[in-house]
Order: sequence, then C-alpha cells, then structure tokens
Amino acid sequence: MTMIRNDKHQKEYIDKRGIHVVVGHYLGNDLPWETTPNITNEILNTNGYSPIPKAGDNGQPVFISPHENAKMKTLFHINRFNLLASDRISVNRTIQDARKQSCREKSYVTSNLPDTSVIIVFHNEAWSTLLRTVHSVINRSPRQLLREIILVDDASERAFLKNPLDDYVSKLPVYVKVIRATNRTGLIRARLMGAKVARGQTLTFLDSHCECNYYWLEPLLTRIAEDRKRVACPVIDIIHDENFAYVRSFEFHWGAFNWELHFRWYPLGEKEIHRRQKDGTLPFRTPVMAGGLFSIDRSYFEEIGTYDEMMDIWGGENIELSFRVWQCGGSVEIVPCSHVGHLFRRSSPYSFPRPGGVGSVLYTNLARAAEVWMDDWKEFFFLLNPGAKKMRKGIDVMERKALRERLGCKSFKWYLDTVWPEHFLPTDGRFFGKIRNKKNGKCFQRPNTKGTARQPVGKVQLGDCVFETYPQQYFVLTKEGFLMTDESICLDSPEATADTNVVMLACNEYKRQKWKYNPTDRTLVHVKSKLCLDLPSSHSPDGLTLQHCNKLATQEWLFETVTWKTS
Ligand code: UDP
Ligand code: MN
Repeated sequence: MTMIRNDKHQKEYIDKRGIHVVVGHYLGNDLPWETTPNITNEILNTNGYSPIPKAGDNGQPVFISPHENAKMKTLFHINRFNLLASDRISVNRTIQDARKQSCREKSYVTSNLPDTSVIIVFHNEAWSTLLRTVHSVINRSPRQLLREIILVDDASERAFLKNPLDDYVSKLPVYVKVIRATNRTGLIRARLMGAKVARGQTLTFLDSHCECNYYWLEPLLTRIAEDRKRVACPVIDIIHDENFAYVRSFEFHWGAFNWELHFRWYPLGEKEIHRRQKDGTLPFRTPVMAGGLFSIDRSYFEEIGTYDEMMDIWGGENIELSFRVWQCGGSVEIVPCSHVGHLFRRSSPYSFPRPGGVGSVLYTNLARAAEVWMDDWKEFFFLLNPGAKKMRKGIDVMERKALRERLGCKSFKWYLDTVWPEHFLPTDGRFFGKIRNKKNGKCFQRPNTKGTARQPVGKVQLGDCVFETYPQQYFVLTKEGFLMTDESICLDSPEATADTNVVMLACNEYKRQKWKYNPTDRTLVHVKSKLCLDLPSSHSPDGLTLQHCNKLATQEWLFETVTWKTS
C-alpha cells in the first residue's frame, strides 16, 4: 500500500520569497544523477527489447548490475524510466493478482456485457512498454469482450514504431489497428482519432505503459452495462520507474484536485468508507478521474461531447471530462475489483511544441475547463493562478459553453455540494481569507513539510502577513467548524489538552478537527476540549498551542475576508 507519488508530473519547490511554487510539468534534469547523457539518433531508433527468461516475472523488480550503470543511465533519459530494465522483461510477463479476496470470489457473465475497443495513444513510447501494454490486454481480457485494440501513433519519431510495429501487431491473435497522426496532435486529439474509428460498444482508454491485471475488464464493463452513463476507472497500481516492480496501490482514495486544478488523490470521505464497510467490492464515486485509464460507453461519450478538441498535448482533460460527466447527469467511479498497473514517472520526456512550453499548454487547458464548468469558482481559480489567468484572454470556449447549455448541465455549486462535499474551496457560507493574531499581527500559514500523500503537514506557524495573493495564508472555515486549506488539510489537535501544539493534517471529519470562532471575543475554540487557540508557549515553542481560555490578546484572532468572486 505504498503511495509513490500523488500527482501527475509536477515539480514543487519553495522559491526565494519562501513561496510554494508548483510547476505543472517540467523538462529539467530531474534524474538522480547530474549530467545529461549524449543520446544519438542511432540509440533513439534502436529497439533494444531483448527479454531475459523469467526477468520481472510475477511483477518482480529487475535490477541492473553495477557494471551496466552507465548504459542504464543513458537509456533512462530517453523515456524517463529504466528502459534497460524494461527491455529485459518479457512483453508477456506475469504479474501478481492484485485483487482482494472478495473480488476474486466474484464471477462475471461475459455474454451479458458490452464489448470494448481499447484505445492506446502514444508518442515516442518504448517498444517493450507499449507491447507489454498490448499483450497484457490480449492475455487478460475475455476475447469476446475485446472488439479490437486501436493504437494511435501521435507522430512518434522512432523508426521501430513505424513498419516494424505494423508488422508485429498484424500477427497478433486480436485485431490491432494502428493509425497515425501526421503532426504531433497531443494526447487529447489523438484519443479522439482513436474514438472516431472505434467500433466497440464501449471505449477503454489506456496509456501506452500499462499492465492490465487479471479480470480487469469485466468489472468495468459490468458497471457500464448496468448504467451507460457511468464512467468506470480501475484502481491504478504502480509500475516502478526504476525497476519495473508491479506494486499494488492504495485503496480508499479518490481523485479530486487542489486550488491549482492539479489532480490529487485524497482519502475517501467518511460517508463513502462507511457505505463500503459491508462490501469492499462496491465501486465508489470519484470527483475526478486520473485520466489515462477508463471505460465509457461509446455513444454516451459522443452524447456528452467527447473531449474539448481545443486542448493541446497533455493535461486538464481529465478534470474537464469529470466536471462535464458529473454536471451533465453521469457519474465517474473507481471500480476496486479492476486493477491496472501504470508506469509513473517523475518527469515528462516530451517536448511541448508551442511558445511558452509546458506552462502555457497546461494553463490554457485548465483555463478552458475552468471557464466552461466552474461558474463563480473560475474566478477563484484565476485569482490564485496568475499563469492561467494570462491565458484567459486568448481562449474561445463558445462551443463548449453551447454544449453545456444544450445538455442542460447542473451548476458547479451542485457539483461541489453533491459530488464533493468534503472539498476545501470557499463557498458562500464559508469564511475565506487570512487569520491574523491580535497580539503580534502575524498571519496563519500552512506548513511546508510534506506528508505521505504530498499533503503539507506539521505544526502551525505564523508568518508576516503578505498582502499580494498568497495562497499559503488563505484558509477556509466551514459552517461545521473545519478550518481547512489547499490540499485538503485541516487544523487538528492531536492531544486536545492544554499547552500542546495544534497541527495541520489531512482532513478527516473527526471531532478533534472542529473549531468554533466566537466573533465577540474573537477566540477560536477547540470544540472537543473547549480550549482556546493561542501563540506558542515556552513548553510547546514550535507552533500554535491550545491553552485555557484567558481573554488575552494572544488568543484573539482576526478573520480578514478575501474576496474570491466578482459579484
Ligand atoms: N501522449 C501522446 N501525445 C502527447 C503526449 C502524450 O500521445 O503529446 C500519450 C503518452 O504516450 C501516453 C499518454 O498520452 O500514452 C499519457 O501521457 P503520459 O503518460 O506522459 O502522462 P502521465 O501518465 O504521466 O500523466
Ligand atoms: Mn502515463
């Protein structure tokens, strides 16, 4: 149950001003070693697949011996994963059945299920990872349900992905169609090219570096057979980028986003955990899908407007599709009995062929999603993300707004209230702004240290109040008394006794995270212990503390509202 990363490629750092910066996607040298190797065209165009018997079988890791380190490092750079290791593992390798016992006891009547076209788009994927994806689909899907596999080559530059690929797949026991974009078109339009030629009753999208687990397909298609407006996602297991171990992933997490509209996994809400206690095989709703891996009814995909074709290269499309499906009457869910491994990497190997590079591509895509679907909350997004705001003028979303109109979709408020009530965005009934101490004039600030889910955790510090837009000092206080901020973290009091430190922790809806603000004496009272929030003490000097209420200025908190929408 390890969580290796909690995002799609992002680099996060603290800049010189102490401000937490997240770059959506980056191309810098992030490898564990310093120099960028010199990679010749000959190396790039060579298919190095040469499996060693049993290597990586059963999803085991593959280790490269030290004398091959130099070669390994060079090859690592090409796809940002250990290509040398991947090339030694059979495209037909076995993996461990990642399903839990209760899932294994289920049986599926395939004759009652719709068939599927598996669509895999790729740009410069390695041979071994691409074909391992294809073979895992063939080996672990009932033939009856697998109508075809469609490979969409997004203008790859590798020789082995051209004729050799066509020849190879023509000999496979399942119909595999290869189509090619003449110019680099990006994953969104590439998937649309695949969808256009697909003939299955459902579409199943996969990244080009996946390994489907046992019985991965049946549970997904079962959900769609019961209700064609469901978008079904597997649990995404982890294929390790350094050694290709297949690692079973966490359960009880769903997908959502942070204030920057970056995809994040968060622990399942209390209600959802409770509902599933009796039956752990039950699918659960997810506010947002991870994006790369899902099944959808083909006619429903068309009905709700496929993808936003104006989205370029990579990113934001999963947020947009999730908002659209939910707001327009469908649902998005994770099906815990379906497991598919995905190779997670720390950075992206692609070029972003557009002025402004990665930032402008991602921000434009996100700006489009926000502009069409988020109503008032788009102002919140643009306020906190000047990079996206810059792109706002240049986008034209008339057609997508018309689509929303035509489909009679619900509001973003409905989405937040109904689909993601655990969210940490401001709303009309919530305080949003800065919290300043009366005594020393300093402001609440979210901690910088990161916990397992990359959520900031730690003792709460005060910082000099910053007057420009500074999300580190923005907090939300809900009607229920949860004091929360970005990344779904809440003010918590682990000990709930006097003279102990409070902390910021993953929100969990427990009573120890409940606070009551008293506007007359401006105290912030911890509901469970009836103690007052106070400055650090000599006994607990590293952060804010709980103390017996004493009406002193150190226990007075000024809530300064920040306006986040225009009207
Ligand atoms: N991809 C593509 N064209 C692009 C960028 C990506 O076809 O311009 C493909 C890529 O080969 C992969 C999928 O889109 O199959 C998702 O990209 P990636 O795996 O880099 O995204 P991540 O999983 O890291 O979010
Ligand atoms: Mn991927």
